[in-house]
Amino acid sequence: MQFMVQMQPNQLQEKFLISSQKMSSVTESAKPGVVNLLDFDRKGLAAFFVGMGEKPFRATQVLKWIYQEEVTDFDQMTNLSKSLRAYLKQNCTIILPELLIEQVASDGTRKWAIEMNGGNRVESVFIPEEKRGTLCVSSQIGCALACTFCSTARQGFNRNLSVSEIIGQLYVAQQRLGKDVRITNVVMMGMGEPLLNFDNVVAAMNLMMDDFTFGLSKRRVTVSTSGIVPAMNRLNEVCDVSMAVSLHAANDQLRDELVPINQKYPLSELMAACREYARQGPRKHITFEYVMLDGINDSVQDARSLVKLLSNVPSKINLIPFNPFPNSNYLCSSADTIARFKDILHKAGIVTTIRKTRGEDIDAACGQLVGKVKDKSRRHLKLQKMDSSHAA
Ligand code: SF4
Repeated sequence: MQFMVQMQPNQLQEKFLISSQKMSSVTESAKPGVVNLLDFDRKGLAAFFVGMGEKPFRATQVLKWIYQEEVTDFDQMTNLSKSLRAYLKQNCTIILPELLIEQVASDGTRKWAIEMNGGNRVESVFIPEEKRGTLCVSSQIGCALACTFCSTARQGFNRNLSVSEIIGQLYVAQQRLGKDVRITNVVMMGMGEPLLNFDNVVAAMNLMMDDFTFGLSKRRVTVSTSGIVPAMNRLNEVCDVSMAVSLHAANDQLRDELVPINQKYPLSELMAACREYARQGPRKHITFEYVMLDGINDSVQDARSLVKLLSNVPSKINLIPFNPFPNSNYLCSSADTIARFKDILHKAGIVTTIRKTRGEDIDAACGQLVGKVKDKSRRHLKLQKMDSSHAA
């Protein structure tokens, strides 16, 4: 999924490289056999302590130290027994991902490049607004799907992020922002398809909502999916978060092309899963993301088809002006076309917003999060070949 925001180069306020020392006291890799405690949600951590003969409440004590007191040194966890601290020092660690670069846009949007390992990098974006602050978090290094309008898709895929690498994005972002600027909302809309990294994403979202960590409301944690139907149904049973669907087309023929996973899970199945999720989910509606592509999916007929498609799904629609990137082969619909599209949806009674462009001067816009992916799928090579044959 890709969250989008944009700015002009002359608006750029700051851009600087941050040394890993300054960002975090613990950036080394976990040694084999050493357990990173950031890889556990509360339930997992309680089971871990029980497994070593300790009481389950040790989990809440340790979570409070790590997430509320920002203490990552076991010696400072003074309500743990000396023997337990010694055991944790020997066998466990608390390793945060390494924050390498911070960019601050003129509108306050911040983008961080975060080193994971082996030369891979993901990006997280913080968008401040009057009454809330939203962090866009990545779930994978690259993406195995191939949505044709998405810059992440062009980088190919390396691997899923671990729980610690997902929750670590929130941790280091909140550290950088300090106590006066709170992250109130998290959207799993960065690099990757979150529901293809199901277990780690669910554990990380559980941690985000835990009263002993960040305590975010379930209405303020949103998972965004391109439509992995079985995983949507499963999520309904295990984790109560808000749902956004990357829709982008109102008929199967076009969606098969823009969001190829549609060939596996067509719109009829996707809409059924959305209806069911909305029935049980915390928000009672699904947010649909719809990128506006000039001459592709932005006609009056497209808008009417969308109204029809969503007629029995409680919906909100976010229209996203497309941010072109090199060789993207699409253009953004005009402002008039987007306004006309919105009007049709609005008149049909669907709450519709046009996503504001944020962070343009730091390429923090939706679809512009690229990170650095050591592509194992070799997709970037195929695309490069196609681009050069088009250019010839
Ligand atoms: S390829 Fe599709 S699923 Fe993957 S990050 Fe891009 S928009 Fe999301």
